[in-house]
Amino acid sequence: MNEFSLIHRFFKHPSDVSLASQKDSTIALGIGDDCALISAPANHDIALSIDTLVEGVHFPKNAAADQIAQRALRVSVSDLAAMGARPHSFTLALTVPSLDEPWLELFSQGLFAAASDLGVQLVGGDTTKGPLTLTVQVHGLCHEGEALRRNGAQCGDLICVSGSLGDAAAALAIIGGRHLSQENDKYLLNRFYFPEPRLKLGRSLRGLATACIDVSDGFLADLQHILYSSSVGAQIDLPSLPLSDVLMSNFLREQAQNYALSGGDDYELCFTLPEQKVDVLLAKDLDCSVTVVGKIVSGLGIKSESGLDLVSKSMGYSHF
Ligand code: ADP
Ligand code: MG
Repeated sequence: MNEFSLIHRFFKHPSDVSLASQKDSTIALGIGDDCALISAPANHDIALSIDTLVEGVHFPKNAAADQIAQRALRVSVSDLAAMGARPHSFTLALTVPSLDEPWLELFSQGLFAAASDLGVQLVGGDTTKGPLTLTVQVHGLCHEGEALRRNGAQCGDLICVSGSLGDAAAALAIIGGRHLSQENDKYLLNRFYFPEPRLKLGRSLRGLATACIDVSDGFLADLQHILYSSSVGAQIDLPSLPLSDVLMSNFLREQAQNYALSGGDDYELCFTLPEQKVDVLLAKDLDCSVTVVGKIVSGLGIKSESGLDLVSKSMGYSHF
Protein backbone atom coordinates (compact mmCIF):
# COMPACT_ATOMS: atom_id res chain seq x y z
CA MET A 1 0.00 0.00 0.00
CA ASN A 2 1.41 3.41 -0.93
CA GLU A 3 0.37 6.87 0.26
CA PHE A 4 -2.28 7.22 -2.46
CA SER A 5 -3.96 3.87 -1.94
CA LEU A 6 -3.93 4.62 1.79
CA ILE A 7 -5.73 7.92 1.22
CA HIS A 8 -8.21 6.28 -1.09
CA ARG A 9 -8.88 3.37 1.23
CA PHE A 10 -9.09 5.16 4.56
CA PHE A 11 -9.92 8.78 3.91
CA LYS A 12 -11.99 9.02 0.76
CA HIS A 13 -15.10 7.94 2.49
CA PRO A 14 -18.44 6.84 0.97
CA SER A 15 -19.98 9.79 2.85
CA ASP A 16 -18.37 11.98 0.18
CA VAL A 17 -20.80 10.43 -2.24
CA SER A 18 -23.82 10.70 0.01
CA LEU A 19 -23.00 14.32 0.78
CA ALA A 20 -22.64 15.00 -2.92
CA SER A 21 -26.09 13.53 -3.44
CA GLN A 22 -27.41 15.91 -0.80
CA LYS A 23 -26.01 18.58 -3.14
CA ASP A 24 -23.87 20.37 -0.58
CA SER A 25 -23.20 23.12 -3.07
CA THR A 26 -20.78 24.82 -0.68
CA ILE A 27 -18.19 22.06 -1.26
CA ALA A 28 -17.27 22.60 -4.88
CA LEU A 29 -14.38 20.10 -4.74
CA GLY A 30 -13.33 17.61 -2.07
CA ILE A 31 -10.44 15.15 -1.70
CA GLY A 32 -8.29 14.29 -4.70
CA ASP A 33 -7.05 17.47 -6.30
CA ASP A 34 -4.34 19.92 -5.24
CA CYS A 35 -6.84 21.93 -3.20
CA ALA A 36 -10.38 21.54 -1.99
CA LEU A 37 -12.74 24.30 -3.10
CA ILE A 38 -15.30 25.83 -0.76
CA SER A 39 -17.96 28.18 -2.09
CA ALA A 40 -18.82 30.35 0.88
CA PRO A 41 -22.51 31.32 0.83
CA ALA A 42 -23.19 35.05 0.38
CA ASN A 43 -22.81 37.22 3.50
CA HIS A 44 -21.01 34.52 5.47
CA ASP A 45 -17.59 34.48 7.09
CA ILE A 46 -15.56 31.28 7.07
CA ALA A 47 -14.30 30.51 10.59
CA LEU A 48 -11.00 28.58 10.53
CA SER A 49 -9.20 26.87 13.37
CA ILE A 50 -6.32 24.39 13.49
CA ASP A 51 -5.17 22.10 16.31
CA THR A 52 -2.32 19.62 16.58
CA LEU A 53 -2.34 16.56 18.82
CA VAL A 54 0.98 14.84 19.52
CA GLU A 55 1.15 11.31 20.92
CA GLY A 56 2.38 11.28 24.49
CA VAL A 57 1.57 14.98 24.89
CA HIS A 58 -2.10 15.42 24.01
CA PHE A 59 -3.18 11.79 24.25
CA PRO A 60 -1.54 8.81 25.97
CA LYS A 61 0.68 6.43 24.01
CA ASN A 62 -1.67 3.47 24.42
CA ALA A 63 -4.83 5.31 23.31
CA ALA A 64 -7.00 3.46 20.77
CA ALA A 65 -6.92 4.82 17.22
CA ASP A 66 -10.66 5.56 17.08
CA GLN A 67 -10.50 7.45 20.39
CA ILE A 68 -7.60 9.56 19.12
CA ALA A 69 -9.50 10.40 15.93
CA GLN A 70 -12.69 11.25 17.83
CA ARG A 71 -10.87 13.48 20.25
CA ALA A 72 -8.89 15.29 17.55
CA LEU A 73 -11.97 16.23 15.57
CA ARG A 74 -14.13 17.07 18.60
CA VAL A 75 -11.47 19.32 20.09
CA SER A 76 -11.17 21.24 16.82
CA VAL A 77 -14.91 21.56 16.29
CA SER A 78 -15.21 22.95 19.83
CA ASP A 79 -13.46 26.09 18.56
CA LEU A 80 -16.29 26.50 16.04
CA ALA A 81 -18.82 26.17 18.86
CA ALA A 82 -16.99 28.88 20.79
CA MET A 83 -17.35 31.25 17.82
CA GLY A 84 -21.01 30.41 17.27
CA ALA A 85 -20.12 29.02 13.83
CA ARG A 86 -21.84 26.18 11.98
CA PRO A 87 -19.47 23.25 11.28
CA HIS A 88 -18.76 22.80 7.58
CA SER A 89 -15.65 20.80 6.68
CA PHE A 90 -12.15 19.87 7.79
CA THR A 91 -8.72 18.85 6.57
CA LEU A 92 -6.44 16.34 8.27
CA ALA A 93 -2.64 16.20 8.31
CA LEU A 94 -1.72 12.76 9.59
CA THR A 95 1.79 11.68 10.50
CA VAL A 96 2.10 7.96 11.27
CA PRO A 97 5.16 5.87 12.08
CA SER A 98 4.10 3.02 9.73
CA LEU A 99 1.28 1.82 7.48
CA ASP A 100 -0.46 -0.23 10.15
CA GLU A 101 -3.67 -1.22 8.38
CA PRO A 102 -5.76 -2.31 11.42
CA TRP A 103 -4.75 0.93 13.16
CA LEU A 104 -5.68 3.05 10.12
CA GLU A 105 -8.97 1.19 9.75
CA LEU A 106 -9.93 1.92 13.36
CA PHE A 107 -8.71 5.51 13.07
CA SER A 108 -10.78 6.02 9.94
CA GLN A 109 -13.90 4.54 11.61
CA GLY A 110 -13.54 6.91 14.58
CA LEU A 111 -12.87 9.86 12.34
CA PHE A 112 -15.92 9.37 10.12
CA ALA A 113 -18.17 8.55 13.08
CA ALA A 114 -17.20 11.85 14.68
CA ALA A 115 -17.48 13.71 11.37
CA SER A 116 -21.02 12.49 10.79
CA ASP A 117 -21.96 13.25 14.40
CA LEU A 118 -20.64 16.79 14.14
CA GLY A 119 -21.76 17.53 10.58
CA VAL A 120 -18.36 18.11 8.97
CA GLN A 121 -16.96 16.61 5.78
CA LEU A 122 -13.30 15.72 5.24
CA VAL A 123 -12.21 17.70 2.17
CA GLY A 124 -8.44 17.10 2.09
CA GLY A 125 -5.26 16.54 3.99
CA ASP A 126 -1.71 15.37 3.97
CA THR A 127 -0.16 12.05 4.96
CA THR A 128 3.43 11.65 6.09
CA LYS A 129 5.66 9.25 8.02
CA GLY A 130 7.02 10.12 11.46
CA PRO A 131 6.05 10.16 15.16
CA LEU A 132 2.25 9.90 15.52
CA THR A 133 0.83 13.41 15.16
CA LEU A 134 -2.54 14.67 13.96
CA THR A 135 -3.40 18.14 12.79
CA VAL A 136 -7.02 18.98 12.09
CA GLN A 137 -8.16 22.22 10.52
CA VAL A 138 -11.88 22.86 10.76
CA HIS A 139 -13.92 25.26 8.70
CA GLY A 140 -17.20 26.73 9.87
CA LEU A 141 -19.69 29.24 8.58
CA CYS A 142 -21.30 32.17 10.33
CA HIS A 143 -23.23 35.17 9.16
CA GLU A 144 -20.99 38.20 8.71
CA GLY A 145 -20.41 40.01 11.98
CA GLU A 146 -22.17 37.39 14.13
CA ALA A 147 -19.15 35.40 15.34
CA LEU A 148 -18.65 35.34 19.11
CA ARG A 149 -15.38 36.91 20.16
CA ARG A 150 -13.42 37.21 23.38
CA ASN A 151 -13.26 40.97 23.61
CA GLY A 152 -16.75 42.23 24.46
CA ALA A 153 -17.20 41.44 28.17
CA GLN A 154 -18.58 44.44 30.12
CA CYS A 155 -18.64 45.24 33.84
CA GLY A 156 -21.82 43.77 35.35
CA ASP A 157 -22.09 40.94 32.79
CA LEU A 158 -22.64 37.49 34.28
CA ILE A 159 -20.06 34.76 33.67
CA CYS A 160 -21.54 31.39 32.69
CA VAL A 161 -20.23 27.94 31.87
CA SER A 162 -21.90 25.03 30.12
CA GLY A 163 -22.10 21.44 31.40
CA SER A 164 -19.67 20.61 34.18
CA LEU A 165 -15.98 21.32 34.73
CA GLY A 166 -13.08 19.16 35.89
CA ASP A 167 -14.08 15.74 34.54
CA ALA A 168 -11.37 15.62 31.88
CA ALA A 169 -8.68 16.45 34.44
CA ALA A 170 -10.03 13.66 36.66
CA ALA A 171 -9.88 11.36 33.61
CA LEU A 172 -6.14 12.02 33.41
CA ALA A 173 -5.88 10.62 36.95
CA ILE A 174 -7.66 7.48 35.69
CA ILE A 175 -5.34 7.26 32.69
CA GLY A 176 -2.47 7.68 35.14
CA GLY A 177 -3.56 4.52 36.99
CA ARG A 178 -6.20 5.57 39.51
CA HIS A 179 -9.27 3.35 39.58
CA LEU A 180 -12.80 4.25 40.70
CA SER A 181 -15.70 1.96 39.74
CA GLN A 182 -15.85 0.64 36.18
CA GLU A 183 -18.84 2.85 35.49
CA ASN A 184 -17.23 5.99 36.90
CA ASP A 185 -13.94 5.35 35.09
CA LYS A 186 -15.91 4.98 31.88
CA TYR A 187 -17.82 8.21 32.44
CA LEU A 188 -14.63 10.20 33.03
CA LEU A 189 -12.71 8.63 30.13
CA ASN A 190 -15.61 9.40 27.81
CA ARG A 191 -15.47 13.00 28.90
CA PHE A 192 -11.79 13.04 27.91
CA TYR A 193 -11.94 11.14 24.61
CA PHE A 194 -15.38 12.24 23.39
CA PRO A 195 -15.78 15.90 24.38
CA GLU A 196 -19.11 17.23 23.12
CA PRO A 197 -18.63 20.53 21.27
CA ARG A 198 -21.41 22.81 22.52
CA LEU A 199 -22.53 23.73 19.03
CA LYS A 200 -26.18 24.40 19.75
CA LEU A 201 -25.33 26.58 22.72
CA GLY A 202 -22.69 28.49 20.74
CA ARG A 203 -25.17 29.30 18.01
CA SER A 204 -27.82 30.29 20.56
CA LEU A 205 -25.36 32.77 22.08
CA ARG A 206 -25.11 34.87 18.92
CA GLY A 207 -26.58 38.26 19.66
CA LEU A 208 -26.70 37.51 23.41
CA ALA A 209 -23.17 36.79 24.65
CA THR A 210 -20.66 39.62 24.87
CA ALA A 211 -17.67 37.22 24.91
CA CYS A 212 -17.14 33.47 24.58
CA ILE A 213 -14.30 30.92 24.70
CA ASP A 214 -14.08 27.15 24.96
CA VAL A 215 -12.38 25.72 28.02
CA SER A 216 -9.36 23.85 26.68
CA ASP A 217 -6.50 24.86 28.97
CA GLY A 218 -8.51 25.27 32.21
CA PHE A 219 -11.43 27.46 33.33
CA LEU A 220 -9.37 30.18 35.02
CA ALA A 221 -6.75 30.25 32.28
CA ASP A 222 -9.37 30.52 29.54
CA LEU A 223 -11.49 33.04 31.44
CA GLN A 224 -8.32 35.12 31.70
CA HIS A 225 -8.19 35.30 27.89
CA ILE A 226 -11.66 36.89 27.91
CA LEU A 227 -10.67 39.27 30.71
CA TYR A 228 -7.44 40.27 29.01
CA SER A 229 -9.12 40.84 25.61
CA SER A 230 -11.96 42.80 27.24
CA SER A 231 -9.80 44.74 29.78
CA VAL A 232 -11.96 43.74 32.75
CA GLY A 233 -11.76 41.52 35.85
CA ALA A 234 -13.94 38.78 37.32
CA GLN A 235 -15.43 37.65 40.57
CA ILE A 236 -16.13 33.92 40.77
CA ASP A 237 -18.52 32.26 43.19
CA LEU A 238 -16.60 29.04 43.89
CA PRO A 239 -19.52 27.06 45.40
CA SER A 240 -21.54 27.53 42.22
CA LEU A 241 -18.96 25.88 39.89
CA PRO A 242 -20.80 23.02 38.16
CA LEU A 243 -19.21 19.68 39.14
CA SER A 244 -20.48 16.29 37.98
CA ASP A 245 -21.81 13.77 40.50
CA VAL A 246 -18.93 11.46 39.63
CA LEU A 247 -16.38 14.17 40.38
CA MET A 248 -18.06 15.21 43.62
CA SER A 249 -18.60 11.73 45.00
CA ASN A 250 -15.12 10.34 44.21
CA PHE A 251 -12.76 13.22 44.92
CA LEU A 252 -12.19 15.48 47.90
CA ARG A 253 -13.99 18.78 47.51
CA GLU A 254 -10.76 20.77 47.15
CA GLN A 255 -9.36 18.35 44.56
CA ALA A 256 -12.59 18.47 42.55
CA GLN A 257 -12.58 22.26 42.69
CA ASN A 258 -8.94 22.42 41.57
CA TYR A 259 -9.72 20.17 38.62
CA ALA A 260 -12.63 22.44 37.72
CA LEU A 261 -10.58 25.64 38.04
CA SER A 262 -7.28 24.60 36.53
CA GLY A 263 -7.69 21.27 34.75
CA GLY A 264 -7.93 21.51 30.97
CA ASP A 265 -9.67 19.51 28.24
CA ASP A 266 -13.29 20.08 29.30
CA TYR A 267 -14.33 21.80 26.06
CA GLU A 268 -17.27 23.46 27.76
CA LEU A 269 -18.08 27.05 26.81
CA CYS A 270 -17.33 29.95 29.13
CA PHE A 271 -19.18 33.13 28.17
CA THR A 272 -20.39 36.46 29.44
CA LEU A 273 -23.73 38.16 28.91
CA PRO A 274 -25.81 40.98 30.42
CA GLU A 275 -27.96 39.80 33.34
CA GLN A 276 -31.24 40.56 31.55
CA LYS A 277 -30.26 38.22 28.68
CA VAL A 278 -29.93 35.12 30.86
CA ASP A 279 -33.64 34.29 30.80
CA VAL A 280 -33.74 34.75 27.03
CA LEU A 281 -30.92 32.23 26.73
CA LEU A 282 -32.38 29.71 29.17
CA ALA A 283 -35.71 29.78 27.34
CA LYS A 284 -33.97 28.39 24.26
CA ASP A 285 -33.66 24.70 23.48
CA LEU A 286 -30.00 24.08 24.47
CA ASP A 287 -27.97 20.88 24.34
CA CYS A 288 -26.51 21.29 27.81
CA SER A 289 -26.96 22.94 31.19
CA VAL A 290 -25.78 26.52 31.76
CA THR A 291 -24.59 27.76 35.17
CA VAL A 292 -23.91 31.31 36.29
CA VAL A 293 -20.56 31.20 38.13
CA GLY A 294 -19.66 34.84 38.62
CA LYS A 295 -19.67 38.34 37.22
CA ILE A 296 -17.45 40.75 35.36
CA VAL A 297 -16.02 43.56 37.49
CA SER A 298 -13.73 46.49 36.87
CA GLY A 299 -10.06 46.11 37.71
CA LEU A 300 -7.97 43.24 36.45
CA GLY A 301 -7.64 39.75 37.94
CA ILE A 302 -9.96 37.03 39.22
CA LYS A 303 -11.21 36.99 42.81
CA SER A 304 -13.40 34.50 44.66
CA GLU A 305 -16.61 35.50 46.47
CA SER A 306 -14.54 35.79 49.66
CA GLY A 307 -11.91 38.01 48.05
CA LEU A 308 -9.31 35.28 47.48
CA ASP A 309 -7.00 36.03 44.54
CA LEU A 310 -7.51 33.14 42.11
CA VAL A 311 -5.11 34.28 39.41
CA SER A 312 -2.14 32.60 41.06
CA LYS A 313 -4.10 29.33 40.74
CA SER A 314 -4.93 29.96 37.12
CA MET A 315 -1.86 28.64 35.38
CA GLY A 316 -3.90 26.03 33.51
CA TYR A 317 -2.14 23.90 30.93
CA SER A 318 0.95 25.55 29.55
CA HIS A 319 2.42 24.06 26.40
CA PHE A 320 6.05 25.02 27.13
P1 ADP B 1 -0.27 17.23 -3.00
O1 ADP B 1 1.01 16.51 -3.30
O2 ADP B 1 -0.85 17.99 -4.14
O3 ADP B 1 -0.17 18.03 -1.74
P2 ADP B 1 -1.17 14.87 -1.75
O4 ADP B 1 -0.47 13.79 -2.47
O5 ADP B 1 -0.60 15.31 -0.46
O6 ADP B 1 -1.35 16.09 -2.74
O7 ADP B 1 -2.69 14.44 -1.52
C1 ADP B 1 -3.48 13.99 -2.60
C2 ADP B 1 -4.93 14.28 -2.28
O8 ADP B 1 -5.33 13.53 -1.15
C3 ADP B 1 -5.19 15.75 -1.94
O9 ADP B 1 -6.46 16.10 -2.43
C4 ADP B 1 -5.18 15.76 -0.44
O10 ADP B 1 -6.01 16.81 0.07
C5 ADP B 1 -5.75 14.39 -0.09
N1 ADP B 1 -5.21 13.84 1.17
C6 ADP B 1 -3.93 13.49 1.48
N2 ADP B 1 -3.84 12.97 2.72
C7 ADP B 1 -5.10 12.98 3.23
C8 ADP B 1 -5.66 12.61 4.47
N3 ADP B 1 -4.94 12.08 5.47
N4 ADP B 1 -6.99 12.80 4.62
C9 ADP B 1 -7.73 13.32 3.64
N5 ADP B 1 -7.28 13.69 2.45
C10 ADP B 1 -5.96 13.53 2.24
MG1 MG C 1 0.26 17.19 0.15
